Amino acid sequence: MHDYIIVGNGLAGAILSYRLNEEGKSIVIVDEDAPEAAWKVAGGVWNAISFKRIIKGWMADEMTDEADAFYQKLQDQWKIEFYEAKKIVRIFSDVHFQNTWLSKSDSPELTSFLSDNSPNELETLPLKMPFGAGTVKKGGHVQLGVFMKAIKAHLNKSATLINEKFDFDSLTVNDEHVEYKEIKARNIVFCEGYEVINNPFFSWLPMSLTKGEILILKNPGWKFDCIINNGKHLIDLKDGRLGVGATFDWKNLDHSITEEGKEQLLDHLEKNFEFRDWKVLIQKAGIRPTVADRRPLTGVHPDHPNVFVFNGLGTKGVLIAPWMAKKMVQYLVHGTALPDESNIQRFAKKHFR
Ligand SMILES: Cc1cc2nc3c(=O)[nH]c(=O)nc-3n(C[C@H](O)[C@H](O)[C@H](O)COP(=O)(O)OP(=O)(O)OC[C@H]3O[C@@H](n4cnc5c(N)ncnc54)[C@H](O)[C@@H]3O)c2cc1C
Repeated sequence: MHDYIIVGNGLAGAILSYRLNEEGKSIVIVDEDAPEAAWKVAGGVWNAISFKRIIKGWMADEMTDEADAFYQKLQDQWKIEFYEAKKIVRIFSDVHFQNTWLSKSDSPELTSFLSDNSPNELETLPLKMPFGAGTVKKGGHVQLGVFMKAIKAHLNKSATLINEKFDFDSLTVNDEHVEYKEIKARNIVFCEGYEVINNPFFSWLPMSLTKGEILILKNPGWKFDCIINNGKHLIDLKDGRLGVGATFDWKNLDHSITEEGKEQLLDHLEKNFEFRDWKVLIQKAGIRPTVADRRPLTGVHPDHPNVFVFNGLGTKGVLIAPWMAKKMVQYLVHGTALPDESNIQRFAKKHFR
């Protein structure tokens, strides 16, 4: 008998499996390797500051420390380069934004995150910044393709990986254990990203999915270490390409790339760059598992004590997953309570049945 079946081996499932494995648990992972999984599209940036109101996100201090330590540790351990801590430079859109940033960067709450100046390296770029820019001192970038390949190779040594679409008709849930085809396990955890909307156990959770598109551009020869943000991110991918993203669309929840998406991203760049000759190499689209209240979804099914969900990483999976997976493992293995804000119990009364 295995300890856990994990359904979904994206950012959520892989990091949760890694953490369960650290606890010595035996795991079977079922993943269909969907080409449209969100991690295959995502920009890989982590940033705990919400630029809309210039505030720290939920659990920002704990999550940033955890994310930085987690990716750095694995990079050192596996000797594979996929992570860099990076400053994020926010270009001010107008005087009002500039004033708000300057006063917030002095506040005790935000002083460890915000600074009111920007790095000198930006002077080499054809940037237009009439209102200046400020810096988020704590941020980072994970090359998700490289990281996910490495974590899957690691899991392959200790867990059983099954490459298929999970078939709900082949699952039996008993009081003592669950059975999927010939596999018996004490528990099952669903980590399917936006596909949770098709999960018969958890489709009642109030998702508010968002489609996003990104572009990979030819780098015109620029070099910069920070992440530039003017509402969209621009990253030097250090391989002759720039990454730019992402759009937000709450209505058209499909995986098709669009002319509108491309134009929106290029228009955004053109607001702040004296440069027009962008060469688009790749355009991708994906769906983020965003939740109505913008908090993760963790916890147990109201009727089945051995059926769990770990989802709702939304727009910030790279930042949230390492911290939230730690909390989830403490809950699953040691019985420590989950944070109320992420516990799916918050929705059970109103949305279940
Ligand atoms: C355009 C875009 C840009 C983004 N940029 C960033 C960014 O810069 N930084 C950031 O932190 N986040 C970003 N995100 C969000 C990030 O991608 C998500 O938070 C994260 O990927 C969620 O992880 P997940 O494992 O829950 O879902 P996913 O990454 O979607 O993984 C789900 C996995 O479940 C598997 N699966 C699903 N259903 C089944 C099934 N029935 N049977 C078997 N397997 C199944 C899929 O194959 C997949 O591997 C972005 C997302 C998009 C779309």
